[in-house]
Amino acid sequence: MTSGQFNSAATEAIQDITNYYDNITDRPVLPSVAPGYLAKLLPTSPPTEAESWDKIRADMESKIMPGMTHWQSPDFMAFFPASSSYPGMMGELWSAALTVPAFNWLCSPAVTELETVVMDWVAQMLALPECFLSKGKGGGVIQGSASEAIVTCMVAARERFVTRTLMKDDTVLTEEQKEDRSAEIRSKLVALATKHTHSSTHKGANIAGTRFRSIDTQLSNAFALQGHELRATIEKLKSQGLEPYFLTVSLGTTNTCAVDDFATIAEVKKDYPDIWIHVDAAYAGVALVLPEYQHYCKHFASFDSFDTNMHKWLLTNFDASCLFVQNRRDLTDALSITPAYLRNEFSDQGLVTDYRDWQIPLGRRFRALKVWFVIRTWGVEGLKAHIQHHLKLSDLFNSLVGSRSDLFTIITPPAFALTVLTTLEKANANTKKVYEIIDQGKKVFLTSSLVGEAYAIRVVSANPLASEEGIRKVFGLLVEAAEQVLEDKA
Ligand code: PLP
Repeated sequence: MTSGQFNSAATEAIQDITNYYDNITDRPVLPSVAPGYLAKLLPTSPPTEAESWDKIRADMESKIMPGMTHWQSPDFMAFFPASSSYPGMMGELWSAALTVPAFNWLCSPAVTELETVVMDWVAQMLALPECFLSKGKGGGVIQGSASEAIVTCMVAARERFVTRTLMKDDTVLTEEQKEDRSAEIRSKLVALATKHTHSSTHKGANIAGTRFRSIDTQLSNAFALQGHELRATIEKLKSQGLEPYFLTVSLGTTNTCAVDDFATIAEVKKDYPDIWIHVDAAYAGVALVLPEYQHYCKHFASFDSFDTNMHKWLLTNFDASCLFVQNRRDLTDALSITPAYLRNEFSDQGLVTDYRDWQIPLGRRFRALKVWFVIRTWGVEGLKAHIQHHLKLSDLFNSLVGSRSDLFTIITPPAFALTVLTTLEKANANTKKVYEIIDQGKKVFLTSSLVGEAYAIRVVSANPLASEEGIRKVFGLLVEAAEQVLEDKA
């Protein structure tokens, strides 16, 4: 494809994309294809001869679109949203155009330096404590996902725990003895989370090769982890000869957007400073742009790391998981390995940041561009208004649900534009039937979940295109389905 051909093809693609967004509500949010549909439409072998772009372009609509779930549709209220915006897309386009896997500063100084600047901006926007900014010992790095951020921190936590334990022992060890002793220490390590923490912590522990234990939390506390529950777990594990070394606390769990009790957990951390505490704020963290949520931040100075996905709720296209650490040395001590081919005078002199040492992969995308474009296009005030808009829609939904207390119960306090509800009568069986009616209707996409013992329906009003009309639509569908289920029973 020549630059002239690219110009025409890209211009058409932009038209197709804007048409897609302008008319997205004409498409059912969920596809109706059967598994394996695409293989039947495509040749089994790659084309021998070059194909025209026009032919390729036409296949987007005829072959790909039927198999798409439209996450950007306002009828998508499932899981958590995956934000998209035109400035975010422009960042992606430029990133693809430049294609620089800038693992070291020298690989493209602008990639590293923009990331440092915008991550400091994000930290300030979210009112994170100063210790997470790059001017001190801390700093931020853009990861691909909240799961990747957790496993990265877990590996750093594991190695920090091993090093600190070795340092407490005065015995002089040979390199081989040190390695054996380190392996012995690692074999006792336990990562912790609650039963409601996202499964990425369990997966992280599997990858890091340590044990994992989950702590029970109570419905009466809206499933938020309390300091005394954590302390009891730590003491029990230690009495068994095991060593808790990592804990994920949540600002917004996946099921119900529960927020763990940071104040009492911070008290426990004082007695167990070697346990790395990571704040998983994958979805809800960006709500910290609003002053009314910033009271949570004061406790974060007691914790080691914080991560939020701008790609979930803050208008930035996938992927932009913003990880902040208090001490960047914790990451680089665990992850920095410098063979001769990666050495250069700037890195050797310690003058620059090499983000390859803050992450698992070597190469990295130019993700800071889209973050920069989004923040500049909206400004902090615009981003606050964006979150506020969704919170207001959620208030509307909650008041509508409250007006039909004969049909529905909200089972945990609505939070961060998420409502979790069940039907009133024969809750589990009927809620499941209501969910199935909604799911089969394909007019909106919701998710169901098990919250404690309860089968529940989650409604999220944080999609970039969410609107009052959409909120009234989903409520109407829920009422219709619930009434049908109750009538069928009568
Ligand atoms: N943490 C929470 C609270 C989540 O809700 C999710 C996903 O929805 C994750 C972590 C994992 O996110 P990612 O897909 O970025 O790994």
